[in-house]
Amino acid sequence: MNKPKFKYVVDNFSDFRIIRYKVFGFKKLPLKEKKLIYYFYQAGLYGRDIYYDQNYKHNLTIRKTLEEIIKNPKVNKNSKDYKQLLDYLKQIWASNGIHNHYSFKKIIPNFSKSYLLKEINNFEEGKLPLPKRQLLKIIIPIIFNKNIDPVKTSFDSKKDLIKNSAVNFYENLTQKEVDNYYSKLINRDTNRKEKEKEPVMYGLNSKLVKENGKIFEKVWKLNGLYSKSIEKIIYYLEKAILVSDSKEKKIVIKNLINFYKSGNLKTFDKYSLSWLKDNKSNIDFLNGFIENYNDPLNKKGSYEAIVSIKDLEETKRTKIISDNALWFEKNSPTDKEFKRIKIKGMDARVINVVVEVGDASPTTPIGINLPNSNWIRQKHGSKSVSLGNIIKAYEMASKESNLKKEFFYSKKEIELLDKYSLLANSLHVDLHEIVGHGSGKFRKGMSDSTTNLRNYDAVIEEARADLVALYFAIDKKLIDLKLMPNLDVGKVLYNSYITSGLLIQLSKIKKNHNLEEAHMKNRHLICKWVYEKGKSEKIIEKKIKNKKTYFIINDYHKLRELFGILLKEIQKIKSTGDYDKAKELIEKYGVKVHKKLHLEVLKRWEKLKISKYSGFINPKLSPVYSKNKTEIIDVKISYPDDFEKQMLEYSSLYSVL
Ligand code: ZN
Repeated sequence: MNKPKFKYVVDNFSDFRIIRYKVFGFKKLPLKEKKLIYYFYQAGLYGRDIYYDQNYKHNLTIRKTLEEIIKNPKVNKNSKDYKQLLDYLKQIWASNGIHNHYSFKKIIPNFSKSYLLKEINNFEEGKLPLPKRQLLKIIIPIIFNKNIDPVKTSFDSKKDLIKNSAVNFYENLTQKEVDNYYSKLINRDTNRKEKEKEPVMYGLNSKLVKENGKIFEKVWKLNGLYSKSIEKIIYYLEKAILVSDSKEKKIVIKNLINFYKSGNLKTFDKYSLSWLKDNKSNIDFLNGFIENYNDPLNKKGSYEAIVSIKDLEETKRTKIISDNALWFEKNSPTDKEFKRIKIKGMDARVINVVVEVGDASPTTPIGINLPNSNWIRQKHGSKSVSLGNIIKAYEMASKESNLKKEFFYSKKEIELLDKYSLLANSLHVDLHEIVGHGSGKFRKGMSDSTTNLRNYDAVIEEARADLVALYFAIDKKLIDLKLMPNLDVGKVLYNSYITSGLLIQLSKIKKNHNLEEAHMKNRHLICKWVYEKGKSEKIIEKKIKNKKTYFIINDYHKLRELFGILLKEIQKIKSTGDYDKAKELIEKYGVKVHKKLHLEVLKRWEKLKISKYSGFINPKLSPVYSKNKTEIIDVKISYPDDFEKQMLEYSSLYSVL
């Protein structure tokens, strides 16, 4: 009997699709490790509401109110307004608040104000998060008036960044007041210790407020802001210590608990450092105030939690690449002058995610490089983690769509893609991160390229990393190293890179716009450059079939040579900081798109009905207790397929704020 197929895409609404992922290797873990994962899972989920509140101070009130309406047994689920309200609430769940997670813009609902009023008035007093009159006064204008708090995080530096950001990191303050507050704080410490060599990340774990003319920080800690959530997090972390598999792991957890209890940022650095050094155990977890891009001033850390199992099989691949980094550098087509002689390997691993919360969920990164503290990175390095089962879920989700059929020319190409694109993509990411970004050196006397290359630096750096991956993708060395079974894997990477760079990625740009994002620019630059240089020999050929444009590769080895020539040139630009050359290359090949082709791609894309953003539904862990209910004797994993149900479940189980 065939098992029913695991469906990856389980929901679609607005600009989102919701995907499931599998956790490879969970069932086989010993009980102690399953328990450890379960306690991290619980600790992580108890912080979920912190992130909602950080994003906007009325998020929780709005979410809870709408959830009550959805749960009300009397509500008419067939009305159009109800469906629009559910759609709006799903977007809130997917973005952890009323502002879109990616554009930062406020989401405007499609149901009417009178509908919401009616549904709220159906409740008896006392059943909603606030008294009804007060509730309506707060949330109605916020939900329906476009001009109130339109942006979560503003990057418009012509205006006051603090006043124009709705994010809940600052209260009653101007940008100048915030700047003054923190520069005073930094100066105070620097003067005291002459020169602070290990500076903490000031402001990372607090809300800065002005009350009665006084400016001070409200720290996110036990007995501070978010105390109720943090208390639960600590409770489960303490349980985790008891079943922890190693001394290193126990130290990491203890440091984190101490940080949550004290709010001391020195302790946070201690936690980060111990996290970095904890690289032997198979179970890893991340919990705390981590990334700072939700803050217009890049100080405040957003809450996130990730619990994972190391993928031993896949990590072999990243280790082989890391161990052979010097071979790649020696055999790269770049000038000798710009090659490194020594390369320090880095801790590069592949993990399978078990649960993600806060800033990492439902939308998630596919790679993480932490910790963020600069002095720790410089002195002790960083951990580079790729989220293996998430990358795989993306791949499987794309198989459920018609994307490949639409943009690739021949049946043979599509067959090869189906067979190898997961491995090809993984190899691309690994080579790009480990060898690409880690290679090359500057001309003597130079220590960085940002000062010279300025706004072109990021594109040049990304192009360099991609070209290293492309150049080696069809090298026999990868077969010798057992990284791939045959050269077809590399050819699949070439096919998908060219088609994505010249066609598919244009779907992300609006009509009449040019390329703006660095990765998109570098891809276009590389593809257009090799296409034009190889035009006379038809190395890459443009074909039209049924009025649709395709690009096919006729000679993979000559294409590789072209990648090599461009890599040599780009490395030179980077190593010497040649601004004029960078500008010339990027402006000529990486910015403008072919207008007619762009319109064609937009049309073809629209028909595919693939959502812009992807969110993920977490697996569910359920402990099995002994007869007397005192002991966990097993932890079961299941894969829910109902996004709405999971979000409501989280809200009822883990809402303590
Ligand atoms: Zn990169």
